Amino acid sequence: MAISRREVLALSGLAVATSAFAGNNDSLSTPKQDTDYKAPLPDTDKPRVVVVGGGWSGLSIAKNTKVFAPDAEVILVEQRHEFTSCPVSNLWLVDKVELEFLKHDYLQAARNYNYTYFQATAIGLDKEKQILQTSNGNIKYDYLVFAPGIDYDYSRWTEDIAFENRLRHEYPAGFIPGSEHITLKNKILNFKGGNFIMTVPSGNYRCLPAPYERACIVAEYFKQNKIKGKVILLDENNTITIKEKGFQSAFDELYADYLEYLPSSPINEIDLNNKIVYTEFDEFEFEDASFYPHVRGAKILERVGLAKDAKNMMEGNINPLTYEAVGAKNVFITGDARPMGFSKSGNTANSEGLIVAQNIAQRINKTAVLAWEPPTTTCFSAISTAPEKAIYIYTQYSYDKKTKAFDFAGTLSSEDWKKDGKTNGNSIYGWATALYYDMFGDKNS
Ligand SMILES: Cc1cc2nc3c(=O)[nH]c(=O)nc-3n(C[C@H](O)[C@H](O)[C@H](O)COP(=O)(O)OP(=O)(O)OC[C@H]3O[C@@H](n4cnc5c(N)ncnc54)[C@H](O)[C@@H]3O)c2cc1C
Repeated sequence: MAISRREVLALSGLAVATSAFAGNNDSLSTPKQDTDYKAPLPDTDKPRVVVVGGGWSGLSIAKNTKVFAPDAEVILVEQRHEFTSCPVSNLWLVDKVELEFLKHDYLQAARNYNYTYFQATAIGLDKEKQILQTSNGNIKYDYLVFAPGIDYDYSRWTEDIAFENRLRHEYPAGFIPGSEHITLKNKILNFKGGNFIMTVPSGNYRCLPAPYERACIVAEYFKQNKIKGKVILLDENNTITIKEKGFQSAFDELYADYLEYLPSSPINEIDLNNKIVYTEFDEFEFEDASFYPHVRGAKILERVGLAKDAKNMMEGNINPLTYEAVGAKNVFITGDARPMGFSKSGNTANSEGLIVAQNIAQRINKTAVLAWEPPTTTCFSAISTAPEKAIYIYTQYSYDKKTKAFDFAGTLSSEDWKKDGKTNGNSIYGWATALYYDMFGDKNS
């Protein structure tokens, strides 16, 4: 049968449409990874300092670099749209403080301190050309700071990714802000009774006192609400790692029926289906749990080639006195991602940020770079909310040139919560408000 011209056109049209569709489909299955474009930021002749990570470290560095080198252009690259504080979050878990107190505005910080907040994720680094690749384009830098915080390391418990994902989803640690904290809060507020397991990892984990503080606050919540349950705190360490006297006396005297503290109790196995945890000598059934695994320097440091093994906290990959990454010019690594044994605390990260910013500013201003200065750790931990009572520690650090090791120096503590607990309790808010002000400026500006 002869085919008409009209039919030929119709068929060819169909063929064109089909091939266009096939082409589309093809491009869907193999999307182009074009990261080779400039970030939408104005060009500048000024020295440019790029800071990756708007946590306690990065915010302090962004602000203080502008303070000490006002002519520098500073860009804060942060993947989140808003800041949520981990410090004081244990009180939010039991509705003692409002979320509003913990949340802060990156745009406000940038306006107040005259830098640029660039919402994007850092994904790559060209060390030679001094270009940071982000999810929203490339940024050329003169100085680059990586302050990306921590990632969890579940490998002591499991190498099975599916099992690790169950732990992350069903029993999150709540030591990186965001959804983990919301899940944990709902677990606590909806707890009906039984064992609520929490854990303390070994090593230099994020915020040494926070798991003990959290155990106290949750035990108090069970006690106040007459919930027939208790916190079982399984500690990998053989003793409470910090403020031992204060926490131990709170455990014994305030929460004896609601909190069982078990040192030297690393977990050997977690049976999620039957809800049983096995340690070397014991097994514990649980109704609910929050498993805090080991921590490591954020994985992005390995991905961009700044660390060979951020899991072992990058020993040897950074100059511990200047925070410079080895083998990458003008690149610094700070905050909880650093390998030095300083306390992984917001206060430490903030005070260290001031030192690193001064160091960068001195290079920009071509003035003499000062010798190493220690960061400081000031830390209040709540042991109860009604009445509000807290314990406290302050420490500096020393450096031994011969052994190349850091140590605690000049430690002060106030752990007698019967005597000083209320004063320390009030100071939690004063401390946090001062630090938020330091990082963001006036909340109403
Ligand atoms: C429950 C709890 C209670 C605590 N209590 C206290 C306390 O009372 N006092 C105290 O001093 N400290 C406390 N801390 C510890 C404190 O929160 C941390 O030590 C502090 O957050 C470390 O600061 P950082 O800047 O190194 O990391 P973070 O604050 O984690 O900031 C890292 C930032 O980098 C961003 N980032 C990561 N990767 C990328 C990327 N590729 N691109 C762009 N952005 C990226 C992240 O989004 C994040 O905003 C507590 C922590 C917890 C969890």
